Amino acid sequence: MKNALILGITSQDGMLLAQKLLSSGYHVTGTTRQLTPRSRWILSQLGLLSSVTIHNVDLTNPADVKSLLEQTQFTEIYNLSAQSSVSRSFNEPYQTFDSITTSAACLLQAVHELCLDSRIFNACSSDCFGSTTIDHPFNEQSPFKPLSPYAIAKYSAFLLFKNFRETHNLYISNGILFNHESPLRPSCFVSQKLVHSAHSIYSGKQDYVTLGNLSVIRDWGWASEYVEAIHLLLCGSTPLDAVIATGRSYSLYDFAQAIFSEFSLNLDSHLQINPALTRPIDLHQSYSCPRLIQEVYGWSATVFVPGIAKRLVKHCLDPFLLSYPHD
Ligand code: NDP
Repeated sequence: MKNALILGITSQDGMLLAQKLLSSGYHVTGTTRQLTPRSRWILSQLGLLSSVTIHNVDLTNPADVKSLLEQTQFTEIYNLSAQSSVSRSFNEPYQTFDSITTSAACLLQAVHELCLDSRIFNACSSDCFGSTTIDHPFNEQSPFKPLSPYAIAKYSAFLLFKNFRETHNLYISNGILFNHESPLRPSCFVSQKLVHSAHSIYSGKQDYVTLGNLSVIRDWGWASEYVEAIHLLLCGSTPLDAVIATGRSYSLYDFAQAIFSEFSLNLDSHLQINPALTRPIDLHQSYSCPRLIQEVYGWSATVFVPGIAKRLVKHCLDPFLLSYPHD
């Protein structure tokens, strides 16, 4: 039986990946700093609390990480844990670096010291690229020009994983992930804020949604499809760093409008702009070219912003999901 370790089991991607791996016959172990009531409840509702072995681990502590890796021979390790909010990273650069870069170093040091040959996936971010134009969509050859503490931390972790792959001949793949959504995303992320605000307006509980800069352009995908791509990156004959994206970008305004339309609401009638919600520096536009992963693994996204809006709203109206404890 294959043994997978998911660092960051309570992440959106961690839970979706765990479901996927369990259904493929894996034994799955996951880590958390400490389960919150929200993550415990979601893991339990998804049937993961009873089917995944969960350890409380401080991934920034080398001894803890080494002890975890000593206990079991993992065939695959997925590094997903991170302070993953770009906005928060401007106020919490220390926590952001610690959770992304220090934890990467701890993992690699333990793998090296224990001479492990586990295959490793690292979650890198499209934020590392910075901004671009429609004529120059980002691919694996594009230079990294990070503009936030989060992206700088992800860039340095990316370099560490690449360095260990090259120096120690390890099977390590970096997925350069563009934004991807699901109902499991915490409410501080804009997709969930939009869905919950639109639902409250639709239900007569509030009148407006307050947002920052709606002109930013992003490539949003559907998280369940992205975990398929993440898994594929560990299934090949050679490791690969690949962009995981849909190849179609939309403005935040278009995304918001798509969500509001699902509730038959006119976004403009319920929109308030608060410049204080704009990030200190923001990527204005992000376009992707996910050709490599399509050529190597035949993976391509099939769900784009209109489909994401439809799915998020459908889930939001589901009585089961309505009772999710909020973070
Ligand atoms: P989430 O934000 O849903 O979860 C990240 C997990 O990291 C949390 O559940 C938390 O688990 C853990 N964590 C560890 N340290 C911290 C910290 N200091 N602050 C907050 N959380 C922390 O992740 P996603 O599923 O969205 O993303 C998975 C990975 O992919 C992440 O590395 C992310 O940066 C990357 N990525 C995601 C994108 C997206 O659009 N979703 C886009 C690009 C990259 P616990 O509290 O249980 O320890």
